[in-house]
Amino acid sequence: MTAGRAVPDTVPHAVPPTEPATEPAEPHEVTALMASTLALRGGTPVRTRPFPAWPRADEQVGAELLDVLDSGKWGSTHGDRVAAFERDFADYQQAAHCVCVSNGTLALVAALRAAGVGIGDEVIVPPYTFIASAAAVVLVGAVPVFADVDPATHLLDPVAAAAAITPRTRAVMPVHIAGRPCDLDAFAALGREHGVAIVEDAAQAHGAEWRGRRVGALGDLGTFSFQTSKNMSAGEGGAVVTNDDRLAERLYALANVGRVRGGGWYQHEHLGYNLRLTEFQAAILTGQLRDHPATQATRDANARLLGSLLGEVEGVSLPSEDPNVTAHGRHLFLMRLPALGAAGKRDAFVQALAAEGIPCSGGYVGLHRNNALREEIATLTKRLEVPYAEPRVPGAEQVAADTVWLPQPALLGDEADVRDIAAAVSKVLGQAHTL
Ligand SMILES: *Cc1c(COP(=O)(O)O)cnc(C)c1O
Repeated sequence: MTAGRAVPDTVPHAVPPTEPATEPAEPHEVTALMASTLALRGGTPVRTRPFPAWPRADEQVGAELLDVLDSGKWGSTHGDRVAAFERDFADYQQAAHCVCVSNGTLALVAALRAAGVGIGDEVIVPPYTFIASAAAVVLVGAVPVFADVDPATHLLDPVAAAAAITPRTRAVMPVHIAGRPCDLDAFAALGREHGVAIVEDAAQAHGAEWRGRRVGALGDLGTFSFQTSKNMSAGEGGAVVTNDDRLAERLYALANVGRVRGGGWYQHEHLGYNLRLTEFQAAILTGQLRDHPATQATRDANARLLGSLLGEVEGVSLPSEDPNVTAHGRHLFLMRLPALGAAGKRDAFVQALAAEGIPCSGGYVGLHRNNALREEIATLTKRLEVPYAEPRVPGAEQVAADTVWLPQPALLGDEADVRDIAAAVSKVLGQAHTL
């Protein structure tokens, strides 16, 4: 919110006279709604009902949590729920192996270390992502190199990534923003051609598929998050999946203070963190995995309906369709408002839409503009005495300025909820000139 900004109310009471009750013609209602005063200016919001709550769990999960409590086996070193969930989640993502870890940030750290990324290496990352994608690179002593995203998809552009490869590149990190898979054929080919690891950041992409294959192990390693907002959640948590037996062993050691599977308690053959999940988290995640196909079907149906409704609204530009995306993770619903973005009014739109009762946000600021990262990168490259070119990422600049996000719980309701979202977007855009 911009505090203290005086906003002239140009349409004080622009609500047209109420239609007679006998004449409830829908087009009239829509027209009336679009002309009615924005909630931001004291008008009636499109909706006041809350959207579905997230995260959520059923009674079975409650009972299983009590079982863990009563069993006394609270940690995965004594219980078997984390191990069982790891097998089930690996199967779900069509991967040979899964190692659970404390969160999605440390999943990236572990995956990068397992891939051999270390001090002075370069890792190519998109700037339009959560800060953890790039922070994890710095946390293993490597340098994040930003390559641009495609504004049509918000995803790392394989051509831009290829152009950013140098002799120091050790890995490339396609991030499946919003749950939409990156072009994993192109990235796998890039990895093979240049001998670099492909680490998928799939924190937002549980269940997503590229050409009929689930993400995560289509590159060398893939990471997931089970943080509160994610489509599968235990409050906190994460996982790394891979098809490579050797990488799986390294991940196990990294997550278990350097131990090896089947080895002794004080047999530390490697150095590692303690990244283990608790059995409580595994009990919750088992329930989340059980529910995911159903919650996902709801999100997907609602996203498709919303896409078809917003496709008709002038000023809205939706991500391009791609038949290779055979399952979209639906973590976020993204829409771009190019004209409003170019006018610097995206945030005003977000405020107005939120006032209409729709949960939304302006999303990421490009990471290439984050001062903490910039300073770390400057310090690191100076110490390493390696050059660092100022990133040129116009695609990221553009989407950072004109994109609006709807978070996934907004897609967990019914058709009326979706129609409210579309009506609110139309209403605010219909009065965009007043923003
Ligand atoms: C959430 C997220 C992460 C980090 O996961 P945490 O579990 O919050 O540490 C990393 N990358 C992306 C793209 C994310 O959305």
